[in-house]
Amino acid sequence: MKLYSAPVEDILFSLNAAVGSQAPSHWDAAQCADILGHFANFVESEIAPLDEPGDEQGCALSADGVRMPDGFKAAYTALAHGGWQGLTAPELYGGMDQNALVAAAVSEVFAGANHSMQMVCNLVPGAISTLLRYGTKDQQQTWVPRLAAGVALSTMCLTEPDAGSDLSRIRTQARVDVHGWRIHGEKIFISGGDQDLSEDILHLVLARSGEPDSGVKGLSLFICSKSESGDSIKVSRIERKLGLHASPTCQLTFTDAPAQLIGDEGDGLKAMFTLMNHARIDVSLQGVAHAARACDIANSYAMQRSQGRKVDGAPAMLSDHADVRRMLDEQRSLSLGARCMAHITLVELVKNDRPALVDFLTPVCKVFCTEAGIRSADLGIQILGGYGYISEYRVSQTWRDARITAIYEGANGIHEAAIATRGLRTLGGRGADEFDELITELTSNNKSVCALQDRWRFERDEIMKLDDPSAHAHAFAQLTCELFFQAAWVRLNSVSDDVEISRLLRGVLLRA
Ligand SMILES: Cc1cc2nc3c(=O)[nH]c(=O)nc-3n(C[C@H](O)[C@H](O)[C@H](O)COP(=O)(O)OP(=O)(O)OC[C@H]3O[C@@H](n4cnc5c(N)ncnc54)[C@H](O)[C@@H]3O)c2cc1C
Repeated sequence: MKLYSAPVEDILFSLNAAVGSQAPSHWDAAQCADILGHFANFVESEIAPLDEPGDEQGCALSADGVRMPDGFKAAYTALAHGGWQGLTAPELYGGMDQNALVAAAVSEVFAGANHSMQMVCNLVPGAISTLLRYGTKDQQQTWVPRLAAGVALSTMCLTEPDAGSDLSRIRTQARVDVHGWRIHGEKIFISGGDQDLSEDILHLVLARSGEPDSGVKGLSLFICSKSESGDSIKVSRIERKLGLHASPTCQLTFTDAPAQLIGDEGDGLKAMFTLMNHARIDVSLQGVAHAARACDIANSYAMQRSQGRKVDGAPAMLSDHADVRRMLDEQRSLSLGARCMAHITLVELVKNDRPALVDFLTPVCKVFCTEAGIRSADLGIQILGGYGYISEYRVSQTWRDARITAIYEGANGIHEAAIATRGLRTLGGRGADEFDELITELTSNNKSVCALQDRWRFERDEIMKLDDPSAHAHAFAQLTCELFFQAAWVRLNSVSDDVEISRLLRGVLLRA
């Protein structure tokens, strides 16, 4: 098996390309490299080695709650002692106060090393942002230091048996009694709904405080904690699933669990979006991590396995065959390009000059990066042949773990619909106009991309004429993704003098 090796150089190369000549304030490339180097060393030795045994052992549910696979608790303790859970938290609350670009670099490496564990730990930055934005001073002072120190992990409790993609169907109730708010109902598929890594768990729960038929306007956001809930929050089951065996996917039953409101009553979805937008970019990075990991496994295998002969009759390695090289190139192009797309979006997020553009780019990244991860893992299986399909080289685990990324945090079809509807219409189409400008900024009128950009503009106008563009949403979103991907590649090439990068760019521009 190919051991996990964090793609530190590739990440720094991509960040450099995404930042471009106008760095956001407080951007310190050397400090980012330093932090990422430390994290990569830690992860390669402490966390990545648990990925395979964790997948084989899985999680277990007993009367005491969920038990994580062997070794996870010690690794988590080391992670928390290293301060990594507080990477983005303000210094005031014991954090490192790092920006979203540093957090993205760290998060990708974490997901590539062990997606299951990353999922359980990585809702914390989003929870901290939600508390800082909507929480009271008291809630912030109570929870942010505990989350930053790793004393508590957090969850995101949205899904119910009848409320998956459609959150207006949420039935979990929130009501007030003499002691305060109480939550009553059932949530399913909650990642890290219970675990034995952290002392406490902070659940962010979307529940109905309004009338049963009040739709999304009747939803409010609450915090419930494991430590204060006694028996009122119970894990009724954990799911058996295709991948992510070491991430407990829990069914939680809330029986009048004590809760606190976050933000205003009825504003639950708005508050939850702070957490969800963070999680969507994080899921994009999970896709990038899978794309890069599958590429690394396939590349090292293809260079070492001897099969067939070269034209001159000498024994050939797999990587000598043109079709295998084509697949390796596609994997590499997808991982570098998808990463750069996510980084460009994060640079815009950090600069905060064009918020409509960030709204437009977030679903584009979610769709492209997650599909890139799945596609790269699929190519990896093909490159390894029968050894890809069996478990030994782990690329099949990469595919199994990657598959969920196109489903959770909003199924990709829903994001595609959002790109073709809200994305083009909100604020008079400002996000889409700024996307158009961004493509020009990234490509400096590269001829191939200009041709695709013209086609995109034409299709955008055509879509805008339709009352209901949903039948064309997928095709339009894929065109948008492809345009951003090619533009990101032109930017990558512009900051590199590596002939390999310009060779790959040629292949990328030939795709459409
Ligand atoms: C491993 C795992 C971890 C998860 N973690 C969490 C978590 O921590 N917290 C949490 O709250 N939830 C979590 N979920 C739930 C996840 O977010 C939902 O599964 C997802 O939102 C889809 O809901 P659903 O499964 O009910 O599918 P449905 O809503 O029934 O949708 C099924 C399919 O129909 C299509 N579809 C549905 N609606 C539309 C639409 N409007 N437009 C276009 N296409 C549509 C999509 O292709 C979708 O994949 C997790 C799920 C899994 C499997």
